[in-house]
Amino acid sequence: MTSPTDKDSAKTAAAPSNFLRHVIENDLAQGAYSGRKWGGSPGDAAHHAQGMPDPAKVRMRFPPEPNGYLHIGHAKSIWLNFELAKEYGGVCHLRFDDTNPEKEEQEYVDSIRDAVKWLDYETYLADRPSAPGTLQPHEYFASDYFDFMYRAAEYLIGAGLAYVDEQSAEEIRANRGDFNTPGTDSPFRSRSVEENLARFRAMRDGLLPDGAAILRAKIDMASPNINMRDPALYRIRRATHHNTGDKWCIYPMYTFAHPIEDALEQITHSICTLEFEDQRPFYDWLLDRLAEGGLIASPHPRQYEFARLNVTHVLTSKRKLRQLVEEKHVDGWDDPRMPTLAGLRRRGYTPEALRLFCERSGTTKSGGWIDYASLEAALRDTLDPIAPRAMAVLDPVKLVITNWGELMGSDEVLDDCSAPVHPHHPEMGKREFKLGREVWIERTDYEEVQPKGFFRLFPGNKVRLKYGHVIECTGGTKDASGKLIEVQATLVPDTKSGTPGADAIKVKGNITWVAAADAVQAEVRLYERLFAAANPGSGELMDELNKASLEACTAYVEPSLAKAEPGVGIQFERHGYFVRDAKTGADGKPVFNRAAGMRDSWGK
Ligand code: ATP
Ligand code: MG
Repeated sequence: MTSPTDKDSAKTAAAPSNFLRHVIENDLAQGAYSGRKWGGSPGDAAHHAQGMPDPAKVRMRFPPEPNGYLHIGHAKSIWLNFELAKEYGGVCHLRFDDTNPEKEEQEYVDSIRDAVKWLDYETYLADRPSAPGTLQPHEYFASDYFDFMYRAAEYLIGAGLAYVDEQSAEEIRANRGDFNTPGTDSPFRSRSVEENLARFRAMRDGLLPDGAAILRAKIDMASPNINMRDPALYRIRRATHHNTGDKWCIYPMYTFAHPIEDALEQITHSICTLEFEDQRPFYDWLLDRLAEGGLIASPHPRQYEFARLNVTHVLTSKRKLRQLVEEKHVDGWDDPRMPTLAGLRRRGYTPEALRLFCERSGTTKSGGWIDYASLEAALRDTLDPIAPRAMAVLDPVKLVITNWGELMGSDEVLDDCSAPVHPHHPEMGKREFKLGREVWIERTDYEEVQPKGFFRLFPGNKVRLKYGHVIECTGGTKDASGKLIEVQATLVPDTKSGTPGADAIKVKGNITWVAAADAVQAEVRLYERLFAAANPGSGELMDELNKASLEACTAYVEPSLAKAEPGVGIQFERHGYFVRDAKTGADGKPVFNRAAGMRDSWGK
């Protein structure tokens, strides 16, 4: 992995290579897919082939199951597939893998669509050829292939390659064997083709109850790879599907459906995570058989596996994220602490930061955990060069400049100050704000007695109000409970930033502030990692949560922030990167979310 602090990698044009690039380059050089031919069968296969006139094109796919919001792990998969499509002049299919009738919802379909758009990959989406019905032109739904899948299943039965097994679920499990023991043939394995066809049609026609039978591939019950021991292809499930309604009471298994989806869409390289490595022999077995039967084109797509992205302190399982939402440990799927793309976006993450993070996390065949700090580093490295700056006081205490009226003519006078929007980009302009007799400063910027190495406010010390004047601290006032309620100082004349001689007085401390007269009150939400546990998901979720993942404070911010737009990261000087919350603040009081601190301080 590239060091997260290595800023140069943010700038390098050529991305580091990975094994998938080598595979694709090799296939392109050999014209692996340019001679792809259809077996000549009519029906859906040919239908789906229309509009994909260039068989040699690199065709990737991102195939989420619409059963939850996408998370950072999916961002990696999106990034990988779309970047490869982009790099090799290809396209990428957004395919909703909706073969499971029960768990899918429109809300999830919409959120997935938004995430791909937000990551800015719309241009590389493949057009859906002659889309029937009301589908969007760029969207593919696995459930559109149910008719074809059914025919493929009947083809396998006819070829003696599949059978209807009516053993109980327990018997099937027991007869599968294990790593050390070969499986045992089902008594139904030797049924005739006619009987299998009749039983499969009975399954389809609703003549058998749920769970009474499954269709299995007939491969090898003694295979050392358990996935090849006659895997299930179809099950009976009476459930209404969001797309096909009650048309079917049998549904294809993922392992059967997925290769077919890839083949129908003429995918060239089907990339998935390493858990599917053991499924690859079945992927190839199935597509080889269907190609032999002329049902799909040849050569068929190939599956390649890479290590899934794991980030410390981050949970990447839709199922467990759903649990957090349903049990209300977070405020919805887009809670800024959630590792969903909707949450990261609301937190202040940008598409650029996520793409950089994905690139830096590397694409390999060996897994591991990426440190959460590198996610934040990618955000800082992309925002630092462009983010507008602003001052914000998060834990405010009032500072009174006691000689203000005397020097300025009146206590009410306000002095105009300004600062660059970005220190290295004068073209971004200036921000204007006032300095007056009373300003808000950070409580931690004052100490009654100077601690070692502390150069900010303590009686007798001089500091600069950043972009303003030098002041000399004269003291502080505490209430009966010992809480600091006010700090006093005097202004040192002729020290205003940007005026001649302003630097005549050298100070070691520079503090941020906002004038009481023009400060905007805001709620600032200081987010921390949602999980204290470094590898969440292994134990009880509740025990792994970080109890202090959200601290809200009432802050005072610079007037320029009143108009801050959600989605635009801002550096609060000294505090880190913040973004205006997209959902709250309608009452006029802005809410800002902390995306990341100025530096990694976890555990310190
Ligand atoms: P989850 O367990 O969170 O539901 P999933 O893999 O079941 O994840 P899918 O909707 O099936 O979710 O995933 C769509 C694609 O995203 C798949 O190709 C999957 O391999 C990939 N993907 C999911 N999680 C990760 C991850 N952590 N790193 C890389 N790719 C991932
Ligand atoms: Mg899944």
